This record gives sequence, structure tokens and C-alpha cells, in this order.
Amino acid sequence: MPDGSSPWQNPVAGFGVTFKAMFKKRLTEQYPEQEKTTAPRFHGRHQLNRHPDGLEKCIGCELCAWACPADAIYVEGADNTEEERYSPGERYGRVYQINYARCILCGLCIEACPTRALTMTNEFELADSSRESLIYTKEQLLAGLDEGMVESPHSIFPGTDEQDYYRGLVTEAAPGTVRQVAVSKGESATEPAEEGVEA
Ligand code: SF4
Ligand code: SF4
Repeated sequence: MPDGSSPWQNPVAGFGVTFKAMFKKRLTEQYPEQEKTTAPRFHGRHQLNRHPDGLEKCIGCELCAWACPADAIYVEGADNTEEERYSPGERYGRVYQINYARCILCGLCIEACPTRALTMTNEFELADSSRESLIYTKEQLLAGLDEGMVESPHSIFPGTDEQDYYRGLVTEAAPGTVRQVAVSKGESATEPAEEGVEA
């Protein structure tokens, strides 16, 4: 042999590696029977957050979509009106979609968001069998309602403005706040559509 080792030494050394590995701690994850706990700041499925009174934080600015290197986000903004208000300011995200067939969960979109409307959860089970089902809509991404919240659209807390929301002065919906009729979604005053909101 050119390096001076005998012809049987390398195979034996190989078995030695195998033998040593037999006594090491096993790293196999028993997923999905035992669900893995993710790190606290894991980048999982996105969430569109709400203000403490239930209004939406997204202002439809599209900065997240422009920041996305995978072109995975589609946003259409629209104007709020006093009769149909989704966020405290002038604009809201009328259409919001994230395509998880494209998303690489890098988090650049949440860094770009000026209102902290967009954050990421620890949910990682996103696999599915069709491209359509991997496109998550605003209704799927919007956070659920916590205590003290009223489903949007509704009016802002009386006596406050948009900036008061960001100063943390609004902590819950004002007493008597009711959901407005979402005319832009085809609802009429007599027949409001179902509020299909998921956490
Ligand atoms: S996590 Fe990254 S790839 Fe996914 S939508 Fe956000 S910016 Fe795009
Ligand atoms: S999620 Fe944030 S960055 Fe994206 S459109 Fe809404 S407010 Fe703008």
C-alpha cells in the first residue's frame, strides 16, 4: 500500500466507527407520534395580528410583499370608511395571501412590516397535497378574537385616533361596539355573512 497501511486496516477502522456509534445517545425523533417542541422564536406559519379591540393591524402597505425574496405574498389594500372600518387608520389589507409552496420561512416579511401586523407562529405542519391549499388567505392568517375584542369591521374606540392605538391607549373594544355590515364582501344589513375566522 502506498501509505504503508495493510489491506485489512481500513475496513476494520470502518467497523470501529459503527461499533462506537452503537453506544451513543439516539437522536431519532419519534415524529409525528411525539410532537417536537420548537424553539421559542421558530419561524412557522404567519399570523395577521389585531389591535386589542379586534381591529386589524395590517394597513395594506405591501412592504412585506416587496421584502419577500420568494414572491410569496400578495396584498391588495383598500380604504376604510366610517361605515366599514377594518383598521384604525386610512387603509387596510383587503386581500392578503401567502403562498406556502413558495415561502422559505426566512422572516424578511415580518421584519419589513411597520405595524407588527405580520408575525410568525410556531406552527410548522404546513405540508399539503395541492398547490391551491398551500395558498393561505387573509381569513386563514388572521388571528382569532381574544377577550375584549369585537370582530372587524367596526368603529374605532370613541375619542381616540390611529396613533392612540400604537401608543397602547386602546386596550379593549369600547362598550357597545358592534360589528359593522361588510358591504364590500357582499353582506347586506339583513343578512350578515358568517364570520369565518381562525386563529
Ligand atoms: S418568510 Fe420569507 S419567503 Fe416567506 S413570505 Fe416571508 S419573506 Fe417571503
Ligand atoms: S402585513 Fe404589514 S407590511 Fe404587509 S401589508 Fe400589512 S401592514 Fe404592510
